[in-house]
Amino acid sequence: MTKTKGQIGVTTENIFPVIKKFLYSDHEIFLRELVANAVDATQKLKAIAGKGELKGELGETTIHIEANDKKNTLTITDRGIGMTAEEIDKYINQIAFSSAGEFLEKYKDQLDSIIGHFGLGFYSAFMVSKKVEIESLSYKEGSKGVKWSCDGSPEFTMEECKKEDRGTKITLYLDDDSKEFATKQKVEELLNKYCKFMPVKIAFGKETEWKDGKNVETDKDKIINDSEPLWAKTPSEIKDEEYLDFYRKLYPMKEDPLFWIHLNVDYPFNLTGILYFPKIKDRMDVSKNRIQLYCNQMFVTDQVENIVPEFLTLLYGVIDSPDIPLNVSRSYLQADSNVKKISTYITKKVADRLEEISKDKKEEFESKWDNLKLFIEYGMLTDEKFCERAMKFALFKTTDGKFLGYEDFGKLIEKEQKDKDKKVVYLYATDAVAQYQWIEAAKAKGYQVLLFDSQLDSHFVNLLETKIKDSRFARVDSDSIDNLIQKEDAKKPQLKEGEELDLEYAFAAVLPEEGRYTLQAENMGENAAPMLLTQNEFMRRYKEMSALGGGMNFYGEMPDSYTIKLNVENPLVKKIIAEKDEQTEEKAKDIKAQIANVQDALDLIDKDTKDKKNEDIPQEMKDKRDKLNSTLNSLRDQKRELMREFGRSNTLLKQITDLALLSNGMLKGKQLSEFVSRSLSLLK
Ligand code: ADP
Repeated sequence: MTKTKGQIGVTTENIFPVIKKFLYSDHEIFLRELVANAVDATQKLKAIAGKGELKGELGETTIHIEANDKKNTLTITDRGIGMTAEEIDKYINQIAFSSAGEFLEKYKDQLDSIIGHFGLGFYSAFMVSKKVEIESLSYKEGSKGVKWSCDGSPEFTMEECKKEDRGTKITLYLDDDSKEFATKQKVEELLNKYCKFMPVKIAFGKETEWKDGKNVETDKDKIINDSEPLWAKTPSEIKDEEYLDFYRKLYPMKEDPLFWIHLNVDYPFNLTGILYFPKIKDRMDVSKNRIQLYCNQMFVTDQVENIVPEFLTLLYGVIDSPDIPLNVSRSYLQADSNVKKISTYITKKVADRLEEISKDKKEEFESKWDNLKLFIEYGMLTDEKFCERAMKFALFKTTDGKFLGYEDFGKLIEKEQKDKDKKVVYLYATDAVAQYQWIEAAKAKGYQVLLFDSQLDSHFVNLLETKIKDSRFARVDSDSIDNLIQKEDAKKPQLKEGEELDLEYAFAAVLPEEGRYTLQAENMGENAAPMLLTQNEFMRRYKEMSALGGGMNFYGEMPDSYTIKLNVENPLVKKIIAEKDEQTEEKAKDIKAQIANVQDALDLIDKDTKDKKNEDIPQEMKDKRDKLNSTLNSLRDQKRELMREFGRSNTLLKQITDLALLSNGMLKGKQLSEFVSRSLSLLK
């Protein structure tokens, strides 16, 4: 064969710069593409040998990578089927270039979002090289060595060469700005990222050993990959320890996983893989994108969103499937029917496995629940199908540390905790220490209290209310226990007219200024606490959700509002009311009488002007009305001030208010130290 020159069969005049420009951020995939070609060529040869059609020895088939940072070259050598001159012409000059050209034309606007940039193949070598050489000797009998060379222009040369060894050697003469690909460190990094599990042995550098106080190279090739990864093996033959070892290799810094699932299907699509449930302690611990996607043991990407459901991106591990379309943009993926099937399959498998563990290894499941729960709750909140399944195995944890399935727990409380409207009330606490007193009050009634202490719980409570029929969820400190589960219509306590409001003024005067307060008098029995400070369940949930980023900012900015539940059957409260009457009655009576007078006068004017248009009302009358209104306001202010003064001066009132604050963990700073000294002086 004489030396030939030719033009590569691409239509675009000079497509080489195009690829460098468009794929700037992902140049490094070239190595995966070239090693993958070497793997293919090797496997093809093995298949031929397997059929007995190979003349001569198969011999050693390890692929060798060599980096030379002096010459700025990188070579990939295989002992696969090799290529004849005709084949190079066909596969490289015509097909490889034109298919890469087509690929670029089609996707140049969205290359960055194309998964793994598959489809570029051999051509990607030009992303990092000024010149590429192929030396190849086909396995076919009588073949001659052939050398092909191309310097990045559409022109190439091809000539016969001396090559003794079967297979192909690709040499890249690296671009000046791609020199790093000739360094040991970079190549090691890329091989580790892209080729770690390729199915043919790959050698780079030499093994080292410890000798005379230092690490020295031996003559033994260093194999950088595991060509038979665990996920490709038969699940029934794998021991637990092997699964754990594999995890440790993939994520050296992580704690051991809780459970794992070995995925293995071949119909209606092909998919293998191992998914691990990591230990998740709290939201800070959540890391997404720890699943690696492979295609026939070739690394594609670790960005698996759009391939697996959102909540499963919290899992770790590997998925290997040739049926996920790789040279398409991410937005296309979601619509792809195979991807949809795969995603549904994985969700189902995860649910199956969790259900199985919850039944067969009940104790283990319970002991790991705290670390698993965030994952499961997240899945239930974001994936309808998973939620349906998880209702069967998700657990409730009570404040006593007991674990129960939803159904069992429902049965346990359905009689005792049913209210007068036939709703079963699920009581929960978010902090067993801070809400201790409330939890105890509920337990004293024979009620069960759940512990909901993860960050998702305010969202989760809403979900559960819609999923569990005839249920209502209430935080244990959101009202007095008899109000939380009302058995019959409560008797309203008998107070004088306007007295509830008077008491509200008196108590609000000694409560922290940043809150808003409404007072409700209640009959809770003479032995129950004199006063409780509660926060409305729904308002609190909205506020929590908006803090979590639920988009309800209106609520997030509102001040905390509390209800003062005043137990008017408690003797201390009775005493406070008596003292109030004693100290304020006279003044209050006087103000009240004045208010009544002004009110009468106003009523008269209203009567007179009722049917008149504003412009027909004489100015004199309007002025009088305005004056009366302002007198009324100032009288009301006087009344409020009277009550506030009483509140601030009454030791008992301050004491029971501070006790209520204390049991909510709201007594702080100056108020706390005042409470302590007041308590001490009361003891004297
Ligand atoms: P693809 O691998 O997707 O077919 P490539 O552009 O990577 O596309 O390669 C084109 C063709 O060149 C391959 O299909 C194969 O026939 C041939 N080829 C590439 N690299 C090698 C190699 N190392 N050994 C033998 N044949 C090769």
